[in-house]
Amino acid sequence: MSAINLTSLSKEEFRKFVDSFDTVLADCDGVLWLGNTLIEGSPNVISQLLKIGKRVFYVTNNSSKTREEFVSKCSRLGYPSEKDNVLSTAYLTACYLQDVGFKKKVYVVGSKGITQELDAAGIEHLDVGPDPMCNDMTTLLMNEVQLDSDVGAVVVGFDEHFSFPKMVKAASYLKQPDCAFIGTNTDEVFPTEFPLTVPGTGTFIRAIETCTKREAFKIGKPSPYVCEAIIKRHNVDPKKTIMIGDRCSTDILFGNRCGFKTLLVLTGVTTLEEVHQLRKSNSKENQDLVPNYYIDRLGDMLPLLS
Ligand code: PLP
Ligand code: CA
Repeated sequence: MSAINLTSLSKEEFRKFVDSFDTVLADCDGVLWLGNTLIEGSPNVISQLLKIGKRVFYVTNNSSKTREEFVSKCSRLGYPSEKDNVLSTAYLTACYLQDVGFKKKVYVVGSKGITQELDAAGIEHLDVGPDPMCNDMTTLLMNEVQLDSDVGAVVVGFDEHFSFPKMVKAASYLKQPDCAFIGTNTDEVFPTEFPLTVPGTGTFIRAIETCTKREAFKIGKPSPYVCEAIIKRHNVDPKKTIMIGDRCSTDILFGNRCGFKTLLVLTGVTTLEEVHQLRKSNSKENQDLVPNYYIDRLGDMLPLLS
């Protein structure tokens, strides 16, 4: 598969490209913003896409915020949005539990983003936040780890208070084969402006998968659950949908798997050099990571769209 530079298309080819989709799925971090910093030019493109009649959904693997919090962030940075257009992994986790008719309590390794979405869906859960410090394992196991017999699912999302006590609890609940195991997303690391490595949610899920010898059901990109949820709730046609993302291993793989068109922007994680390496490789797996199109910045589409 080859990746086409969008800016190399003729006017006519670009018009055909734009006509080929009616729905836009935009990844957030790396496409619309980087952390709390706006990616210049992206808001104008999203507004223009809406103006010419495209439907736009924001699809993020970030489980640490509710949809309302994403709507506030979008409006602060100049992106038109409403709750229904935000598909975040905290919300989609609550959707999944509703879809499967879950009636028990959830043990959440994660943040309030997840528990607030569970509340909105009427799903019971235990509290999130820091657990006792683990200075002495015997004391911890004898006195501090209490299990709730109503728990029927463990959800693992981004948790800045991830800890040994939480792993002990999660693994103990998951000893019951009928306790569901759900991971919000598998991102290994998050980009940051600081010269540090920030472990992503995939790291926490792997830790719990290792000690339980179980595999979590994954909600976020590249899992096809997002696609199922979008089709079911918003009636989108995969053939008329484009996924715009900055990370081949999540956004582009997701879009290609779901039969969407895929556009990589180079303002985030994946570099053009990495795309060339993927293209050159012979493995079928790597071909699924190659986008149909790429562009340096989403904002570069504006002159082509106007
Ligand atoms: N999860 C967390 C906790 C994050 O902070 C981020 C990016 O900020 C992501 C996931 C990736 O989000 P996206 O899918 O919008 O790139
Ligand atoms: Ca991203």
